[in-house]
Amino acid sequence: TQQLLVQTEKLSVAGQLAAGVAHEIRNPLTALKGFVQLMEGGAVAKEPYLRVMASELNRIELITNELLMLAKPQAHSVKVQDVGAILLEVIALFETQAILRDVQVIAELERDLPPFACDENQLKQVFINFLKNALEAMPAGGRIDIALWHDGDLIRVSFADQGGGIAPELLTRVGEPFFTTKEKGTGLGFMVCKQIIENHHGEIRIESVVGAGTTIEVLLPL
Ligand code: ADP
Ligand code: MG
Repeated sequence: TQQLLVQTEKLSVAGQLAAGVAHEIRNPLTALKGFVQLMEGGAVAKEPYLRVMASELNRIELITNELLMLAKPQAHSVKVQDVGAILLEVIALFETQAILRDVQVIAELERDLPPFACDENQLKQVFINFLKNALEAMPAGGRIDIALWHDGDLIRVSFADQGGGIAPELLTRVGEPFFTTKEKGTGLGFMVCKQIIENHHGEIRIESVVGAGTTIEVLLPL
């Protein structure tokens, strides 16, 4: 039956996630264990090992922090928010990174947005993840266009970058737990966004052209 199908699917996503978490955390843990054993043996210079250990610990921290975003109860502090102000705050957060990467961020925000009820911290997280992905897609610089407007009973936010784009065969995998094409990626950012936007009953659209760029659009019902 329909119900059974839905439940099976849920279980498999949970299983996929659990397997991914175990795998992603086991790797840095195994490395850490090895370094501890080496250092117990003595007669080694500790400095270089400590640096690698700190970076492995950072990775575990990053992964657990992103996973905690998923565990947060559904939109539990929903209030009427100024979405434009939230977006500008996030853009300011990335200002230095953008300059360092030679990326110009252009934002066009509608002034008269209708009042919108949402979870500020969750929405901020979505903007952070999408802007971060856009920046990471443009190692050689370029331009990111961000727009915020409303259209009927939808709030729309878009992030358009001039990065390398996403190959069509990988498009459906974006947002799968731990799917990443980056050396230091976690593959959790997009999944967190999907979950948050789902909590707000909205949707995410991806448009991408390899070699030209990617546009992520978020649609949120008022
Ligand atoms: P991460 O950023 O840690 O890799 P995400 O879940 O944020 O994880 O993204 C998953 C993958 O989706 C990325 O590794 C990348 O391949 C692809 N992706 C997401 N956003 C973009 C973008 N703006 N341009 C190109 N590829 C993207
Ligand atoms: Mg990301």
